[in-house]
Amino acid sequence: MKTFEELGVAANIRKAIEEMGYENPMPVQEEVIPYLLDEIRDVIALAQTGTGKTAAFGLPVLQKIEVKENAPQALILCPTRELCLQIAGDLADYSKYIDNLRVLPVYGGSSIDSQIRSLKRGVHIIVATPGRLIDLINRKTVDLAKVKYVVLDEADEMLNMGFTESIDEILAKVPSDRSMLLFSATMPKEISKITKKYMESPKEITVGRKNEGTSTVKHVYYMVHAKDKYLALKRIADFYPNIYGIIFCRTRRETQEIADKLIQDGYNADSLHGDLSQAQRDYVMQKFRIKNIQLLVATDVAARGLDVDSLTHVINYGLPDDTESYTHRSGRTGRAGKTGTSIAIVHVKEKGKIRELEKILNKKFEQGVIPSGEEICEKQLFSLVDRIEKVKVNEDEISNLLPSVYRKLEWLEKEDIIKRVMALEFNRLIDYYRDAQEIESPSDRYVKGEDKLYPRRKDRERGDRASGGRGAEKGYSRLFINIGRTDNVNPATLMGLVNDFVPEKVNIGRIDIMQNFSFFEVPERDAQKVIKSMSRQEQNGRRISVEVAQGGGGGDRSGDRNRGGFSPRSDKDRGFKRDSDFKSSKPKSSDKGGHRKGRKPKY
Ligand code: AMP
Repeated sequence: MKTFEELGVAANIRKAIEEMGYENPMPVQEEVIPYLLDEIRDVIALAQTGTGKTAAFGLPVLQKIEVKENAPQALILCPTRELCLQIAGDLADYSKYIDNLRVLPVYGGSSIDSQIRSLKRGVHIIVATPGRLIDLINRKTVDLAKVKYVVLDEADEMLNMGFTESIDEILAKVPSDRSMLLFSATMPKEISKITKKYMESPKEITVGRKNEGTSTVKHVYYMVHAKDKYLALKRIADFYPNIYGIIFCRTRRETQEIADKLIQDGYNADSLHGDLSQAQRDYVMQKFRIKNIQLLVATDVAARGLDVDSLTHVINYGLPDDTESYTHRSGRTGRAGKTGTSIAIVHVKEKGKIRELEKILNKKFEQGVIPSGEEICEKQLFSLVDRIEKVKVNEDEISNLLPSVYRKLEWLEKEDIIKRVMALEFNRLIDYYRDAQEIESPSDRYVKGEDKLYPRRKDRERGDRASGGRGAEKGYSRLFINIGRTDNVNPATLMGLVNDFVPEKVNIGRIDIMQNFSFFEVPERDAQKVIKSMSRQEQNGRRISVEVAQGGGGGDRSGDRNRGGFSPRSDKDRGFKRDSDFKSSKPKSSDKGGHRKGRKPKY
């Protein structure tokens, strides 16, 4: 890896970026910077957000500016006002030690007069959204005749937003012997058209593979019935107490609806969409940036340009129509060296889209299981314990108050105090989840040859309660097999065994894996065939025995229990107690789960 100095970056710029903490160039910078410093050249860079592309074009462009010449020499076009401000801010930082260099952001939604005044005073670099720049060109207040560098940042987004004609119009005003740089996360056909039209044998740079999502992003999808989408969203939010993420919705209306519901249910959320005024959007974005909001519900368009590096999650509340949008959404997490998760809450009909995304992104999507109420409460509880352990106690500030607090609580044992603290935070969550119905996943069958690795949670839990006397699904026989978790059997291996030993295709229904044995269901007509083909085969040196489960559903099989089998852990064993154990005198709150309103976000 080369240093910035070896790439040819001038000392005054290096000083500024070193102060910003840039020690070594990022890959896109290593490729682009020396190439552009050399001479007038065109570059197409396929780079995701967060790869360091602003400095990749910004540093060489700044270095090439003739400050003495009082005319715009570089033009940077980008899709949104937020990105425009961000790029202009970065360039101002990089050029901290270049005297008199002026960068002007030009964007819609703010006073055009002050932008005209700045242009009259003279600027060297214009960072603009296309619409406002056209306006200024039409008013003849901007002269692009001296432009030597044109950068199209997030070019795919600009085209998605319908700026193709504006870009054509703008490019007609700049000299033809200029360098042109095009940055895009994806490479749709329309971009190829632009590159052919305006670029001369451009150098093509790909950071990461074409169309590949950022590698630090884990992709997970949860399949639910459409009616359960919101409930699933709440559970996911509850399961990650430290979540800091964007929930993407398809329409402004849906965005507002989901945000309203979340706020009403006590979550630390807000909405961002085009029906809000610019001032409202700025306010929400600022609150989100400083983490006063934990969950931002947004449309794709409104969230563009919102630059936050530390998102833990991106949640797709339904999948977008095109891969580009998914790439953009998921690229908002896992940035600046951090890892992140892109979650999609989908219904059965969207399964095909998931497969398509997997192919295009060349990434496997994990199928998640909606967490149970108990798992959520446990997770939240331990998060609280963790916060209690880590909280910074300012002894001086509270020392005056402590004696009277101690006096008031002296009749309580330490254990009682702990219970009460827990109850204060948890009664509402526990109340909600105690009676909440588990969310059924529509992917509730195991079909041989398909990769559904998880049983329905409801079934899993039922299975974990030793399948007490359950009958098979209609048309299916429930079979007992004498291997279980102890033999490293899971649903996938069990399906594999059936695949291996039964010559013909067999659909497999419900599977319950126990400690030392398991149950699985097959169509009645195939039961004998399966029993015959599998019995007496061996798995890891153990002879397999398959038979029809007794009592039509496996039953308790106390004999199996005696073989050292299953013993479900009680809530108590798990360190999790029900609300009643806390004996709180607080009246029960309404039926709302989630984080408590007014509480500071937990990170
Ligand atoms: P960008 O893709 O330009 O939005 O950059 C993503 C993030 O990486 C921003 O927070 C930059 O400040 C940061 N960054 C860019 N280049 C470097 C570098 N060479 N070293 C460390 N951080 C960088």
